[in-house]
Amino acid sequence: MNEADYALYDEVELKKAHPCVHHNKLFQILRLGADVKFVCLGCGAILMVDRDKFNHSIKKVVRHHDAPLVRYSPLD
Ligand SMILES: [Zn+2]
Repeated sequence: MNEADYALYDEVELKKAHPCVHHNKLFQILRLGADVKFVCLGCGAILMVDRDKFNHSIKKVVRHHDAPLVRYSPLD
């Protein structure tokens, strides 16, 4: 997916499910930089990959949010 097509706090569906018990494919973007930080909306795990890898793993934007859906400190 093109970088312009998603934004901070967007809820996105990834091509591969998180290997947690929830087999969840929905994640929320928490930080956009050279690396992308995002959270599994099934188990709450915070993940980080480089931007290029994220662009390839994203399937679609599900919906937009204005704030984190999970307890999250930007300083973490
Ligand atoms: Zn998970």
